[in-house]
Amino acid sequence: MSKVLTIENLHVAIDGKEILKGVDLTIRQGEIHALMGPNGSGKSTLSYALMGHPSYDVTEGSIKIDGVDLIDMEADERAKAGIFLAFQYPTSIPGVTVANFLRHAVSNVRNPERLEGHDLMPMRDFRKELREQMADLGVDQEFARRYLNEGFSGGEKKRAEILQMAMLKPAFAILDETDSGLDIDAVRIVSEGINKVAAESKAGVLVITHTQRFLKLVPPQFVHIFFGGRIVENGGPELVDKLEREGYDWIRAKYPEAAQVEDELEQNAIA
Ligand code: ADP
Ligand code: MG
Repeated sequence: MSKVLTIENLHVAIDGKEILKGVDLTIRQGEIHALMGPNGSGKSTLSYALMGHPSYDVTEGSIKIDGVDLIDMEADERAKAGIFLAFQYPTSIPGVTVANFLRHAVSNVRNPERLEGHDLMPMRDFRKELREQMADLGVDQEFARRYLNEGFSGGEKKRAEILQMAMLKPAFAILDETDSGLDIDAVRIVSEGINKVAAESKAGVLVITHTQRFLKLVPPQFVHIFFGGRIVENGGPELVDKLEREGYDWIRAKYPEAAQVEDELEQNAIA
């Protein structure tokens, strides 16, 4: 059965300062959505808020999957409920290999009753599945034995994330600037991986990006413009071309109150 992620009037404050100011967004499984918007408008704050960042305060609104509110759930419970955020583990974890990390993550998500340290997915089944996914994504088998993120190049980190997504098969995936800092070949490999995983697990995907090029490779059906802490415009792929041609000036002109919020956020960010 296909799930639906519904974000309604989401307000989020960090250290008492409101960053998200009423985000509304609905994503169904199988849909690809693109989220674009100027630096500092709150896109990453939205991704972390969806995943349950412990120091963010949700002051109003809701995040629901099939009507079940996630607001009071911890990050790992949200993962079990079906949300995946790339960049969840941006730092290296000493002594933990990619394979080991993925085996724990997969065991957690597939067996919600599992207690830490118990009921890991059987090694043989896990290895077989991992081998197949790595072969499918064109990732060298040696990769699984490396320590997570230790000495990974930008491209390898992104590939590890796509591999994680392929293994976890989330209902919803949030990819925050997955394409940034990648060379042309790496962007192509990562985008093919996203399309493949999205199609196979019928995931609803939220792609946060600045580049039109990436959205040609991962074509969205829905495009949203984020500005001043909320989504101000919704449309289709034509919005991407409009932004590419005209930038954000027309958005500033059309939403003056949001533009003021942007200016405040920017000053805040510098201060
Ligand atoms: P985007 O991803 O759209 O570039 P962010 O969500 O990263 O924007 O940031 C939105 C605003 O929230 C910025 O003004 C930023 O300074 C502020 N912000 C983000 N994280 C924190 C934090 N941990 N503490 C204080 N302010 C933050
Ligand atoms: Mg960001």
